[in-house]
Amino acid sequence: MGVSHRNKIVISEPHPLINEEIDLLSKYGDVVLVNTTKEDVLTEAVRDADLLIVDFARVTKNMIENAQRLKGIIRHGIGVDNIDLEAATRRGIVVANIPDYSTKTVADHTWALILALTRKIVIADKYVRDKLYVGRWENPPEYLKGLELEGKVLGIIGFGRIGREVAKRAQGFGLKVLAYSRHISEEIAREFGAVPANLETILRESDIITLHVPLTKETYHLINEDRIRLMRKKPYIINTSRGAVIDEKALYKALKEGLIAGAALDVFEIEPPPEDNPLFKLDNVIFTPHIAWYSEEALRRLVMTAVEEAARILSGELPKNLVNKDVIQTLRFKKEGA
Ligand code: NAD
Repeated sequence: MGVSHRNKIVISEPHPLINEEIDLLSKYGDVVLVNTTKEDVLTEAVRDADLLIVDFARVTKNMIENAQRLKGIIRHGIGVDNIDLEAATRRGIVVANIPDYSTKTVADHTWALILALTRKIVIADKYVRDKLYVGRWENPPEYLKGLELEGKVLGIIGFGRIGREVAKRAQGFGLKVLAYSRHISEEIAREFGAVPANLETILRESDIITLHVPLTKETYHLINEDRIRLMRKKPYIINTSRGAVIDEKALYKALKEGLIAGAALDVFEIEPPPEDNPLFKLDNVIFTPHIAWYSEEALRRLVMTAVEEAARILSGELPKNLVNKDVIQTLRFKKEGA
């Protein structure tokens, strides 16, 4: 018998609980934190790895094809749009995500953005700090006038885990909630206080639109110039899903022309966004740096679940949250061929 093989676990990017995660993973192999999103550096590190854990780094076809021993890829999060799933499936590499670590935190953040946007919190804060009131509080300027939520229509696009939690929170504010998703039943919608609607109805009737779909070929630029033209009520738009679900150029134009009252963006087409992103010049947009998921509770859940999935994959089991289900075929084929 040869020397027994010690697993190599590569983590691409750090986070505030990284030391804890490395400690827990060390039980299953040697952990290497490469601290990069650079494709060439990561490709080199993954070449002889058994497991890869990634946040936002792109896991490309080339990287996957160069990996000699890779059994699995764990995405530290929900969206897997940064991973070439087809390439992984073809090589018999399982891909797992962590679907519900941050559902409630993202829903809370979405609401923080809805309230900040409709109550003008960010520009009001600036008004106070910059002492724009010049000695008087009465007659606040028109641009600080907000929206009362009760009775308004909230359109939720993507009625999965996060969309439903957002709907639940809307009840307290007395909003009417319309929900659109690829598959949505009257029953589920009702359970979360929403009414199912098609996309056009949501665009036409909503005062506030919030996006909670994954980024896929179908949802890429789902909000584009044509769809913005269907929006009758000059709505507020909130995006905590993925940047490219909105065509940013079309959004900029619509915000400038007043077709959309305001936008709150946690995510961008390019992350981090280039410094000269024209949206930064607009007063009716507020931003957060892809932190909708970020809370102590969510982070801890993320790490614990990632470690459990790592243990499963390295011991030859399927992960609980297998994303590329077709890989089972490839694995069966490999086994039979072995
Ligand atoms: P989910 O899978 O539970 O829900 C997604 C919903 O979108 C599903 O109901 C699905 O049917 C629907 N959908 C998919 N494609 C569609 C299409 N073409 N048209 C209409 N509906 C479609 O996912 P979730 O947990 O609610 O998360 C949603 C997204 O939020 C994730 O994919 C991720 O990209 C993003 N996210 C962002 C953060 C952040 O920090 N900003 C954190 C977590 C998740």
